[in-house]
Amino acid sequence: MSRTNSQLAELLARAAEQQEAGTNKAKALRRAAHQALAWPVSVASMVEAGQPLTDLPGVGPYVAGILLAGLESAAEIPDSPPERRGFSSLAEARELLREPGVAAPPVDADFQMHSTDSDGAMPLAEVIGLCRQRGLRCIAITDHSKGLRIANGMDETRLRAQGEEIARINAELRESGSEMVVLRSVEMNLSPEGEGDMEWDALCELDLVLGAFHSKLRLRDDQTDRYLAAIRNPVVDVLAHPRARMFDTRVGLQADWRRVFGEAARLDKAVEIDCHGNRQDLDVELLGLVREEGARVSIGSDAHVAVEHENLDLGIASAVRAGIPTERIINCMSPDEVRAWARAHRQG
Ligand SMILES: [Zn+2]
Repeated sequence: MSRTNSQLAELLARAAEQQEAGTNKAKALRRAAHQALAWPVSVASMVEAGQPLTDLPGVGPYVAGILLAGLESAAEIPDSPPERRGFSSLAEARELLREPGVAAPPVDADFQMHSTDSDGAMPLAEVIGLCRQRGLRCIAITDHSKGLRIANGMDETRLRAQGEEIARINAELRESGSEMVVLRSVEMNLSPEGEGDMEWDALCELDLVLGAFHSKLRLRDDQTDRYLAAIRNPVVDVLAHPRARMFDTRVGLQADWRRVFGEAARLDKAVEIDCHGNRQDLDVELLGLVREEGARVSIGSDAHVAVEHENLDLGIASAVRAGIPTERIINCMSPDEVRAWARAHRQG
């Protein structure tokens, strides 16, 4: 009996629900369920190789026992509830990308990540150094904007100062013979009406602008209007983590997605694959609609800590599974092409 890590995540979440809420066991199981989606190798292959499961982040002896029992059990796993539906795992993504005959798009750019300038754990220079080590060709620094105070969002002054530091680092990269380019960007907070929170001039200095909703994310009625407004906003190039869902926590917003992606295609904008294990937003199902409507796609790890940079493969695998053509993925453009594409939105 072999189970995927995403199936095991579901089993862990179910086991957590069977425990009394708030107990240590319930918390450990729930935490492990969240982390399972980002474990880099499959639990089944670790067991086969005789590797202890306690090597995995979030796994102590108790959770390891639950995982082993889950692997050995032949019981069918019931359908996931909506807040856990449509999630894959990093291990499955890597297995897919390794399969012979799978033509993955050559993505060596990451267009969402955070530094200590907002709510990331690593200073800007370290984030860039890590991405260089990982062999990326282009990255966008997308710290939060001022409206998101809880995430230490940046105002225009701090955004400009960050831009100067990025320019310095880009010059150093060139001098050292590196081909990596760092794009100036921001994850701009959008109001539920689809309006941004930063001055036009400051945004026009950037190479790329992500727009994202962070409020009123639990509304159950149709939200198509806010998405159309966001996409029509001339400073927004990429609609980031569109549904704003969160594994096991929040099901995300509802909209007439075909209309939203159709409008993105008409205005030549991109919708994002946020690769964070607990977001995977958009997921494969909605990416199928994106492909049909012809909108562009941007892939971003949404990393806040070092290990989360690995999650990029999750999004690449989603793009493969949804059949997104390479030429629709903005990560496959050159940095200059990305800049020109974004600039065109401001001139419309
Ligand atoms: Zn966000």
